[in-house]
Amino acid sequence: MTMTPDQKAPLSAADRCDRCGAQAYVRVTLPSGELFFCAHHYRKHAPQFADVATHIHDETDRLLTDSAGAAL
Ligand SMILES: [Zn+2]
Repeated sequence: MTMTPDQKAPLSAADRCDRCGAQAYVRVTLPSGELFFCAHHYRKHAPQFADVATHIHDETDRLLTDSAGAAL
């Protein structure tokens, strides 16, 4: 197993969903590389990579905070 510091890095506005191009809130690390998803596509595709992902960095809880107006 390899440890890369990048796995813990927070997602930014520059990270985009691989499916729709919206801001990514989830980064899925696979043996073959990384995938980025918005909350919608993460939920849609989660069953497909749940068994193969080595790490899932989930910041979808930030959406709740954002929608509450805490981070305008
Ligand atoms: Zn998306």
